[in-house]
Amino acid sequence: MRYCIRCILPDTRPGLTIDDEGVCSACRGHEDKEFHIDWPARKRAFEALVADAKDRSSGYDCIVPVSGGKDSWYQIIKAQEYGLNVLAVTWRTPARTEIGQQNLDNMISRLGVDHIDYTINPDVERRFMKTAFEKVGATGLPMHMALFVIPIRFALKLRIPLIIWGENAQLEYGGGKDERLATDLDREWLAKHGCLQSTNAADWVGEEDLTEADLAAYSLGDTGEAAAEFKLESVFLGSFFKWNSFENARIASEHGFESNAGHLKTGTWEFADIDCRFISLHHFLKWYKFGITRSFDNLSVQIRMGMTTREEAIEIIRQKGWEAPHDDIKAFCAFQGLPEEWFWQVCESFRNPAIWHRESDIWKIRGFLIEDWAWLNSQPTCASPS
Ligand SMILES: [Zn+2]
Repeated sequence: MRYCIRCILPDTRPGLTIDDEGVCSACRGHEDKEFHIDWPARKRAFEALVADAKDRSSGYDCIVPVSGGKDSWYQIIKAQEYGLNVLAVTWRTPARTEIGQQNLDNMISRLGVDHIDYTINPDVERRFMKTAFEKVGATGLPMHMALFVIPIRFALKLRIPLIIWGENAQLEYGGGKDERLATDLDREWLAKHGCLQSTNAADWVGEEDLTEADLAAYSLGDTGEAAAEFKLESVFLGSFFKWNSFENARIASEHGFESNAGHLKTGTWEFADIDCRFISLHHFLKWYKFGITRSFDNLSVQIRMGMTTREEAIEIIRQKGWEAPHDDIKAFCAFQGLPEEWFWQVCESFRNPAIWHRESDIWKIRGFLIEDWAWLNSQPTCASPS
């Protein structure tokens, strides 16, 4: 396991590479953002997309996929700044938080947009999450599938020519040079980077008795041709305007967005990961698979922005520990009607043998970022696998 010499990300993080100088692709992405990308040219490209969308509009000019979080506020505000008539589309999580609902309601009314809150049968969500967790260790797989597929299908059905997504994750969190400079969220991107583990809805038919009909909301089906014929534009806003999570939160707050101050559960950002109770589980599994917590991601961004030093970040990680979201784990097990032992046993099955080893019954990561890490405090609390 190798760590970037500038931030604290290891090369176990999917898509992240560390070059000969010891610098990771996310830090190189930051250099792209600061020095190499021609932002005025990108802005002009965005203006051309806007003009084309208005030209081809059949009422709504664009879809903005939203959760109610800070980034969704920023996406809508930016689209409206360019005079676009927005249809906001949400995949409704089965575990929406109170603050998430409040932010979403305020966003729709204060920014004044039409909105679809798309709810999938909770029992289908439950079964899909169960099998995705057990089979590939990804509670967030159904979520990612739904939130990418639903806006694309609405765009094609309602003939809305443009979808404006948020950040370009390859630029923010490490991808190859071409991927960092890309602007489009297309099928190729979805298959490779959509957190879908290279699967689609059809692969899950039969698991937990899921039928093709159950999984309709997660399926792009044969819409590829329709998208090409209609020339659907599907782009990352973060590829046209320099993405800054803190700035997005500030802009959103000015319009009425509220962060979850004082209730930080995972990571170091009070304005992030607050819409859904189960998102913390998606981040938590990274501990088993890649040896990182949510704070590794958040703090690495802060380091790149000059807000935190690498030494300070390491100290914060040391103090926060492994960030097991115990309350959310309880809630997830209650949703599944299964005991917590089940959760921990599944986690255990995804412990990556390439980085973990067991020493006198204690799990440890070889060459971990923090030498004197309190390993005893980051063991499953609820029954080790028997
Ligand atoms: Zn780095």
